Amino acid sequence: MSMLSTDTPGTGPLSQCPDPVRFQGLPVPLILAWTGEAPPAPGPPRATDILSVDGVRWESWTGVPQGAPLWTVHHPGRQLELMDSRTRCLVGGGPAHRTRDGLLWLLPADPAHPDPRTTAPQAIRTANPPLCLRHAHQAQRHCRRLALDCLVLLVPEVEIVSVRGTVHRPGDAPRWEEVDLHHPDLDFMVGQQLVAELRNPVVLDELPPLPQPDRSADEATPSTLPAPPGPPAFSPAQ
Ligand SMILES: [Zn+2]
Repeated sequence: MSMLSTDTPGTGPLSQCPDPVRFQGLPVPLILAWTGEAPPAPGPPRATDILSVDGVRWESWTGVPQGAPLWTVHHPGRQLELMDSRTRCLVGGGPAHRTRDGLLWLLPADPAHPDPRTTAPQAIRTANPPLCLRHAHQAQRHCRRLALDCLVLLVPEVEIVSVRGTVHRPGDAPRWEEVDLHHPDLDFMVGQQLVAELRNPVVLDELPPLPQPDRSADEATPSTLPAPPGPPAFSPAQ
């Protein structure tokens, strides 16, 4: 898997990231699944599953993004598409915010890991793609409403390193796991989330401000962050 260097010159402070569809007034990030979509019946990798990075069979859902959003569930196909690009906003699918220090990530702080604001980690793993600046501001307002602690990161170097999904080893019960790329057990996996390693992240105290004309945009409209890394709410193989 090639490594992406994110130090290419940016396209300006505000990228053209499309606004997502709304549900009951709330913008629904492109990465989320809907009730009109459904996972396949549980089972080992099938020949009909699409192939993803490193030849991993990917969980192929049916249906269309209609009905109601599943606020904590990544749609496996859209997560794959957005994360594999490493540069697309998880809310609108447009270009993520890019500065000289790297691409913008907003992550829920994970109490199970050392706090990057005090430990200066060399790398952080996540299944959440980056964000454009406008949608990052929307998402952070939602964080604050939920009293969630969010990390603001600028990331100069991003590499896809592993896959989360259900592993069906012969003779074993299916298990949700994270498996590194190139590991032989990927042959038994049905992938659901691509995981990126964010290397040498710069931790910011707060989001860069929006340019003035956009500051009022959507001020009263919450958005949402996808669920923190972990099994989806209804993984078919629990
Ligand atoms: Zn966006």
